Amino acid sequence: MLTRELNSASALDAAHSVHPHTNLRAHLEQGPLMIVKGDGIHVIDEDGNRYIEGAAGLWCASLGFGNARLGEVAKTVMTDIGYYHNFRGASTPAAAELSARLAAVAPDGMDRVLLQSSGTEANDTALKLVWYYWNAKGAPERRKIISRSGAYHGTGTLTSCLTAKANFHAGFGLPFSGFLYTGMPYHYRMARPGESEQEFSTRLAEELEAMILAEGPETIAAFWAEPVMGSGGAITPPEGYFEKVQAVVRKHGILFVADEVICGFGRTGEMWGSQTYGIEPDLICCAKALSAAMQPISAVIIREHVFQAMLEQSDRYGTFVHGYTYGGHPVASAVALEVLKIYEEMDLIGHVKSIAPGFLAGFEALRDHPLVGDARGVGLIGAIEMVADKTTKAMHDPSLKVMARIDAATRRNGLITRLIGNRLALSPPQIITSGEIEEMFARLKASLDTVAAELN
Ligand code: PMP
Repeated sequence: MLTRELNSASALDAAHSVHPHTNLRAHLEQGPLMIVKGDGIHVIDEDGNRYIEGAAGLWCASLGFGNARLGEVAKTVMTDIGYYHNFRGASTPAAAELSARLAAVAPDGMDRVLLQSSGTEANDTALKLVWYYWNAKGAPERRKIISRSGAYHGTGTLTSCLTAKANFHAGFGLPFSGFLYTGMPYHYRMARPGESEQEFSTRLAEELEAMILAEGPETIAAFWAEPVMGSGGAITPPEGYFEKVQAVVRKHGILFVADEVICGFGRTGEMWGSQTYGIEPDLICCAKALSAAMQPISAVIIREHVFQAMLEQSDRYGTFVHGYTYGGHPVASAVALEVLKIYEEMDLIGHVKSIAPGFLAGFEALRDHPLVGDARGVGLIGAIEMVADKTTKAMHDPSLKVMARIDAATRRNGLITRLIGNRLALSPPQIITSGEIEEMFARLKASLDTVAAELN
């Protein structure tokens, strides 16, 4: 039974589309948020309402919504060839050039690129490469993977196990054994009273090492981390965290996989989150802003010693037995290649660096708001955390539906944000201007004020 009048597309959607991360029953009754057009950092719904897309969709639409130049590129490649694969040594100029350009912008020593179609595929492939590597090294007992509590690394069967969020496991009988979860670098909630960021980082590194020693270092294959935890709540790492954790990982000869699906391509103010935090990964997974989300494409970027092990395996087994029908898709590759050119022309990193201070100041200014307990961010990603009591950090009574009220208020004010539990994250398209950032925070502040007044 529909609870509001829906136009034809929305009615069709309510009747037939199954939606991820949606209350399926509520959707049958309420129908979708039907987005019909994009314009820069804005999206427009079927009723003509215009929203600033403060989350860039799913942390991904780096160049905003709608892009004629990318449309032309896609059209040309689709007209000329449309599809070819990358199996058995086949390639297309677009896929080859994209791989070369990605290698050129990747951290030094990471020159080999395996193209896929999604962040989940990239992480799943990286997981198989980690096991392939240790088999090549004659250490097949190195199987266990350590990620962090609260991590999100995708939603396939194995990547759901890298993902360390209870709601991704409940109902599916996951995770499989062999996936270990170490502490989340979430200073605001996980630090002990009075514990400084450096002290907290030291403790997390010690806890990680204790886990490795208890399991046996010879059984641990890889450590998996996002530089800034996105879906975990826009968690910026505490001071010293990656330096200390990376030292432990290296000491025990464990591979370091950086999931840069959100952080890659300027989100944290450098090309890679790994650069922002001094991480030297063995494998990088990237997606989303790789193509400004205009095409589904992802990549695993591989450090040379891992590639050498892959060569040995390929010698042993005759071929590298892994691949997807759409890996290296020429249309997606050509669009991503053009996106990387656009990033260079617009000086993406310079632009993010120049506007990030205003963005981060917007969060800082909300720290004193009566609803807000914590504010944090780096580059163009950040979050505020809603609390009922700033001192005890107690959360609001669920019956007050504070986050649903905030969501409704921001939408009424023409702003879409990303809500994660009691946290509200922003990661706007990287093309956003300083003026648009001010407008975005003005809308957010007005929405929080409305909700605070309602609660009083
Ligand atoms: N890793 C991270 C850090 C992500 O944020 C996401 C998607 N939000 C993924 C992996 C999975 O990407 P996809 O949805 O393209 O499979």
